[in-house]
Amino acid sequence: MIELVRPATADAEKPYVTRLRVTAGVLDPTDTVLIDGDDEGGLFSGPFGIVAIEGILPEQLEGEVVLVDPARRRIERLLRTESTTNTLLVTERCDQLCVMCSQPPKKTHVDRFDLLEQACLLAPAGMLIGISGGEPTLYKERLLTLMERTLSTRPDLGFHVLTNGQHFTEADIQRLGAPEYRRVSWGIPLYSADPALHDLLVGKQGAFSQLEGGLAHLAMAGARIELRTVVMNDNVNGLPALAGYVSSRLRFIEAWSIMQLEHVGFAKNRWPALFFDHSRRFARIGEALDRALLNGVRAQLFNFPRCTVPPEYRSLAIASISDWKRKFAPACSDCREQTKCSGFFEWHPDEEARVTVRPL
Ligand code: SF4
Repeated sequence: MIELVRPATADAEKPYVTRLRVTAGVLDPTDTVLIDGDDEGGLFSGPFGIVAIEGILPEQLEGEVVLVDPARRRIERLLRTESTTNTLLVTERCDQLCVMCSQPPKKTHVDRFDLLEQACLLAPAGMLIGISGGEPTLYKERLLTLMERTLSTRPDLGFHVLTNGQHFTEADIQRLGAPEYRRVSWGIPLYSADPALHDLLVGKQGAFSQLEGGLAHLAMAGARIELRTVVMNDNVNGLPALAGYVSSRLRFIEAWSIMQLEHVGFAKNRWPALFFDHSRRFARIGEALDRALLNGVRAQLFNFPRCTVPPEYRSLAIASISDWKRKFAPACSDCREQTKCSGFFEWHPDEEARVTVRPL
């Protein structure tokens, strides 16, 4: 697992965002540059002062955009040059309480939009930046402003926003239809075609109906949408019906991602009740995939180790888990498909992963 937070001491009074530079080359005046380092960390100097970062080889920080937090004596590695899956957490507040939530919400919100916008402006060229929460659109104006300012200054960047999709209104259609929003995609969860079951799984009455409204407004804006469905015991039998709903009512989406559960957050303690073992019974998932694909919906499988998926669907199981939270079982080193495989989340039980894999 790659550690995204590292201990650090800085002489600044307030948090700030900067880009770290280790190697010689063209520097930007806002860069913070290595002046001394060894295997255990580095001393950097920049326009905001000195920062000593511990517990990491300085070379691993080259070009990274970090948030330095002097009071908490740490840095957050916000945007890593080597990663294709950098995600900014904009709030921990949420208006749902999903049964499987991987990041249980908090009641308080710490507004860091200004700092995160500075990070986006310093992003490496061509980066797709993830935005998540909590529910980012609880702060919709701040969120849209951050993205618009970034995209207008940096035409090389894009965003992928995870949202429950319920807070878009008619008033947003024109704004979200602006050309820069072609570089924004929205990842939106939908767990069932049955409104009562969807509402139950997300812990919010009326969520399905609000989501239908939000999706309609996004569709009218021409927004790019990726639907996301986590498979659980409660909704697996309804997947074919959901495929029918997506195929008939939501043809405007770009992709439908069927996702396996993460062994973390609320799901950790509810694992026996929630986890559906697709490696033993794939029929319902297969039926849903067939129905979607036949109707021209681009369906894909996230967080499904490839060897656990029947061969005819294996090409849909993509390497979806972010590098910093992905692991493989020891036997995976003999597998020819490891580079195409999601592997397992770092927090997945080792023993379960070990007995699951069948190197291809
Ligand atoms: S053996 Fe490991 S790398 Fe190969 S498909 Fe299975 S989980 Fe993926």
